[in-house]
Parts: sequence; structure tokens; C-alpha cells
Amino acid sequence: MISKSFEPLRQLVGEKLRLNEPLRRYTVARLGGPADALVVVDTLEMLEQVVRLAWSYGWPLRILGGGANILIGDKGFRGLVVINDAKNVDYLEDGRVIAESGAGMIAIARGSMEKGLAGFEWAINVPGTVGGGAVSNAGAHGSDVAHQLVGIEIAFKDQTIEHWPLEKLNYRYRESALKRSPDPYVVLKVELQLQPGHDPAILEGRADAFIAQRKRTQPPGASLGSMFKNPPGDYAGRLIEAAGLKGTRRGGVVISPMHGNFFINVERGTAADYLALIRLAQEHVQTKFGITLELEIELVGEFA
Ligand SMILES: Cc1cc2nc3c(=O)[nH]c(=O)nc-3n(C[C@H](O)[C@H](O)[C@H](O)COP(=O)(O)OP(=O)(O)OC[C@H]3O[C@@H](n4cnc5c(N)ncnc54)[C@H](O)[C@@H]3O)c2cc1C
Repeated sequence: MISKSFEPLRQLVGEKLRLNEPLRRYTVARLGGPADALVVVDTLEMLEQVVRLAWSYGWPLRILGGGANILIGDKGFRGLVVINDAKNVDYLEDGRVIAESGAGMIAIARGSMEKGLAGFEWAINVPGTVGGGAVSNAGAHGSDVAHQLVGIEIAFKDQTIEHWPLEKLNYRYRESALKRSPDPYVVLKVELQLQPGHDPAILEGRADAFIAQRKRTQPPGASLGSMFKNPPGDYAGRLIEAAGLKGTRRGGVVISPMHGNFFINVERGTAADYLALIRLAQEHVQTKFGITLELEIELVGEFA
């Protein structure tokens, strides 16, 4: 039944089409049930073609980069998941970096430093792709994508390809105009402006300091990074700690005793375990402090 409905996709991508494919392999947290269909694309042309095919047939679609900011339900995803592995990056002498959207944030941070381009060292420990980072305005160590981004190339469902300059993206803390776009889209390319002519050793020293700082302040182990956005003027981790929830465990997942905004998959945790802790933290923080914790991660697919 399912395989029949994806026949046009098989004609386009052949053996690359996987049916009933477990999604845990494609997410940083190693969680999630199966997708009805999944394709890994490694060129922008194929990314656009596959996405347009899905739009034309009306298949439910989810484009994933590194799967570093999503929690996929244990029952998986009904529809097509496209894993974006188009990852070429051009580093230009004038400091511009033109990256395909599937390029890794960490890879771009490393590549830029090697070429003496300054400004993207903060991304040295931010997993996922630059496409995902451009949608959510990923950031760390006092910077974020909005600080270096010049513009992005996006394909929309109505056949257009648009270039959106920085101003149009209306970036805020982990937010962009694109993230809330009602029109289906896929980010194809991202252009950054970095500063050329720096000593790679100095840039690498800066990145090493960021890595060391993270090791000191954030717990090791399989996690989804920060679960909640920091509410204005406060920190989600502080609130969860003040609610007495550090160390709380549900199934195989525990709220880190080191940092309340990190939920660690310690022993074959499930998406349901994560969801139980998410709800618990939201309820306790709401009741004790009257503050609504908003998820930083996205919930995707079917949970029960
Ligand atoms: C250990 C850990 C540490 C982290 N630290 C940080 C941090 O310091 N700062 C921070 O900001 N984040 C952090 N994160 C979260 C994550 O790294 C970022 O959100 C990252 O930008 C996600 O990119 P991704 O490619 O993995 O996106 P995914 O998780 O694959 O997707 C996220 C969203 O973007 C959409 N999307 C992805 N690619 C495209 C595309 N090409 N076109 C259209 N939509 C797309 C997806 O559909 C989904 O809605 C951390 C995560 C982990 C696990």
C-alpha cells in the first residue's frame, strides 16, 4: 500500500528510497520510530526535485538536516522524510562563505578557521546543518547565525526560488520569519560574511576555549541540547533546578543533575520518556513561578 503511493519517488531516486525506515539513525538523540518513506539527498538539485515531487503529490513532508533539534515520536512519521546531505561549501577570499544547506555548522566553523576567516568560531560545538541553523537562528557564546548571515536561497512551493536578505528573515532569539512561514519551503543555500586575513591558530585557540567552556558547563551524554528557550530575563535551566527537578528520571531519560535544561538519554530512553519530562518541567515551572517554558526543540511525528 505505502510503497505503491511513493512509486513516482522510486522512479526519481531509485534504490535511495527507503520504506519504513527507522528515524533514530538520522537524529542526534538516536530516538524515533520509522518514517513511511525516507530519502537521503546529496545534491541541491535532488533536494529540490524530491521536495517538489512531495509537494505536487501532497505527501506529508519533513526535511531534516542533522536531526539535532527535533524529538521524533516513538511511532515515527507518516509521510516522507528527506535527509539533506548536500554539503558543498565555497570559502571566498573576500570572506564570503557560500554553503549548501546540508553543510554541517561544525564543518563550516572548522573550514573557515583553516582559511583564516573569523566570525564563525562560536559554531564549533553546535551540531546540525547550516540550513537548520538558518531556520532557527542557532547561536552560542554570545553570537548566532544572524550575526554573519548575508542571505539565503529558498525554494517555495509555487515554483519560485527566492533570495532572502538578512533583513527579511527578521531574526530574533531562536526565531525567524521563515520558521513561522505558512508556505512550504526548503532552504537551499546560505551565504555568510566572515572576516578574512586572520591567523588560523588564533581562531582555533578561540574555538578550543569555547569547547572547554562547554565541557565545564554542560553535561556529556546523548541529549537534544537545550530543551527549552530561556524566558526573557531568566534561564530555563535555573527555573527547572529551582523547581527541584534536577536528577528526575522517567524511563531511560534523566534531567541532568548538572544542568536542568539538558535531558540525557541514559539508558534506552524513548520519545515518550522525553515527553513525560517535558510536560513535568512545564507544569512545575508554571505552577511555582507562573512562567511558561517554551520548547526550543521541535516535536515531530506520532508519539502514542
Ligand atoms: C548536544 C547539542 C547541543 C546543541 N547546542 C546548541 C547551541 O549551542 N545553540 C543552538 O542554537 N542550538 C543547539 N543545538 C540544537 C541544534 O544544534 C540546532 O538547532 C541546529 O541548528 C539544528 O540543525 P539541524 O540541521 O540538525 O536541524 P534539524 O533538527 O534537522 O531540523 C530542525 C528544523 O529545521 C528544519 N530544516 C532543517 N533543514 C532545513 C532546510 N534545508 N530547509 C527547510 N527547513 C529545514 C526542519 O524541518 C526542522 O523543522 C544543540 C543540539 C544538541 C543535540
